[in-house]
Amino acid sequence: MAYVRSIITDGHPTLRKVAKKVDAKEIHDPLFQQLIDDMFVTMYDAPGIGLAAPQVNVSKRLFTVDLHDDDPAHGPFVVVNPKFERTEGEIESLEGCLSVPGYVGEITRFESVVVTGLDRDGAKIQLEGTGLFATCLQHEIDHLNGVLYVDRAKNVRKARTEEEVAAAESAGPL
Ligand code: ZN
Repeated sequence: MAYVRSIITDGHPTLRKVAKKVDAKEIHDPLFQQLIDDMFVTMYDAPGIGLAAPQVNVSKRLFTVDLHDDDPAHGPFVVVNPKFERTEGEIESLEGCLSVPGYVGEITRFESVVVTGLDRDGAKIQLEGTGLFATCLQHEIDHLNGVLYVDRAKNVRKARTEEEVAAAESAGPL
């Protein structure tokens, strides 16, 4: 059984910690597998397209991602101990975050990235992202480093327009 965990918000100290690397042996621990299941359920319940473990008050280096489109290259995935293999270009987009509910801001990120890490079986995986998927991967890795998008974004504001509300609530909260 997987459970919806509560998502902590800006101001909670766990969001500001550098999360701990996961020991490869720990991945097979039933409690760790439970954490992964709970993170997926929590992400879908929110709903969001990405969720990092610190957002459920677990300071470990893993995140879940699913863009909810028909492209299997866009998830669902869980990535443990992610790192950037390659970053390229620049793109500015509107972002929101489940841990900063109701707000959006413009942020400049790499336009495309390649991220490697381990999956839930401890096997190596590599994700390639451009556009929204690349943004999402960078947003989640920021969470693992204690960084929130509001630290880097311009013009952080309450979501009001349809596009802003979608970024803050339904289509794109990370
Ligand atoms: Zn976030």
